[in-house]
Amino acid sequence: VSVAQEAGEAAFVPLDDIAGPRRASSLLARRRPLAAPAAQLALLDSLELRGGDFERRLAEAGLAGGLRPLPVEIFQINLGKLCNMTCAHCHVDAGPDRAAEMMTRETAEACVRALDATTASVVDLTGGAPELSPVFRYLVEEAVARGKHVIDRCNLSVLLLPRSAGLAEWMAERGVEVCCSLPHWRRPNVDAQRGDGAFEKSIAGLKLLNGAGYGQGDPRRVLTLVANPAGAWLPASQASMEDEWRRGLLREHGVTFDRLSALANMPISRFLEWLQDSGNLQPYVESLVAGFNPATLERLMCRNTLSVSWDGRLFDCDFNQMLDMGSASPSGAVATVFDFRPDELQRRRIRTARHCFGCTAGAGSSCGGALEPAAPR
Ligand code: SF4
Ligand code: SF4
Repeated sequence: VSVAQEAGEAAFVPLDDIAGPRRASSLLARRRPLAAPAAQLALLDSLELRGGDFERRLAEAGLAGGLRPLPVEIFQINLGKLCNMTCAHCHVDAGPDRAAEMMTRETAEACVRALDATTASVVDLTGGAPELSPVFRYLVEEAVARGKHVIDRCNLSVLLLPRSAGLAEWMAERGVEVCCSLPHWRRPNVDAQRGDGAFEKSIAGLKLLNGAGYGQGDPRRVLTLVANPAGAWLPASQASMEDEWRRGLLREHGVTFDRLSALANMPISRFLEWLQDSGNLQPYVESLVAGFNPATLERLMCRNTLSVSWDGRLFDCDFNQMLDMGSASPSGAVATVFDFRPDELQRRRIRTARHCFGCTAGAGSSCGGALEPAAPR
C-alpha cells in the first residue's frame, strides 16, 4: 500500500459528517422523472426551436462530418456523484445521497493506465466533490508523478470539513491547480444557487487557499474561480467579470485569485428542472440556439478532452457523461478505461444533441471558461 493510498483511505470517513449548504435535493432522491438522462434528452427534443438541429448547424458551419476529436490534451476523471452540497443548478445531480456512485481503486488504477496511453498533459479531477473520494489523493499523486498538470474542481465548502484538514497545503505542495466554483462575489447570488451559508463558507475556503499560497500569482499554486449565471441568461464577458470579481472580493473580503472562468449553465439535470419549473425552459434554450457562434467550434472541450465516469466509461465531455451518451468507437462499442484503445477513439465522431447549444452560444462555454478569444483589454 502506497503512502498516497494510505493517506486517501485514512481521509475517508463515514458520510454523516459531510452536511453542507443545501439549496435542493437530488432529482434521484425525489424520484423525479428528469433523473433519467433519456427524459432530459426527450424534453429538450420536444421543444419547438427554429434552427435547433445541432448537427445541421455544424454542417452549415462547414463541419458536415460532425465534430471530430483533436489530440487529447485533457484527461478528465469524474470521481463520483457524492457531494456535500446540493446546488440548484447542478448538472451532475450530485449530493450527499449519491454515495453509491463512487470510483473504486481498481477503476482508478485503470484510469492511470489509460492516461499513460494518451497524449494528455492535464488531469482534471471532478465530481461531485472529488475530494470526498477515497481515490482522490491516489490519482493526484499518480498524475503528479507523471509530470501532469492536475486540476481539482472544488466547491470550496468541502475544504472546511474535518476530513479536509491540511488538504489545501497538501495540494499546494504538489502544484495542484484549484478551480473553485463561486457563482458570484456577492452573498445573495451565491446563497440563492447553493444554499444558505454557502457564500460564507466559500469565502472561508478561499481564505484557507490564500493562506496555503494560492491565488497570488505563483504558477504552482493557481487559484481559478468558476462563475456561472444565477438564472436563465448567458454569462457576461469573462474579462469584465474577472475584473469585477477581483475588485469585489479584495475590497469586501481581502481575498485574491489568479483568474476567472465564466461558464454558461447547461440545460440538463437540476438546472433543466429549474428551467422547466420556472417557465424559463423555452426562452433559455431559444437564446442558446439564437446565440450559436461558429467561432467556438474549434475550441469545444469535447475536441481535446476525454471524460471518464466513476465506473470507467468514456465520454466526449462531462455533459455527455451526465446524459449517458457514451463515446462509441467506430465499431459501435461504448469505450471504457478497461479496454482503452486510444487510436480507435481518435477516429470516433463526437456525439451531440441539443444541450450542445449551451457550449456554442455567445462567447462559448467549457470547463476552462469562454471559448472565443477575449478581445484585447
Ligand atoms: S454544483 Fe458542484 S458543489 Fe454543487 S451539488 Fe453539484 S457537484 Fe456539488
Ligand atoms: S456538450 Fe459541449 S463539449 Fe459536450 S459534446 Fe456537446 S458541444 Fe461538445
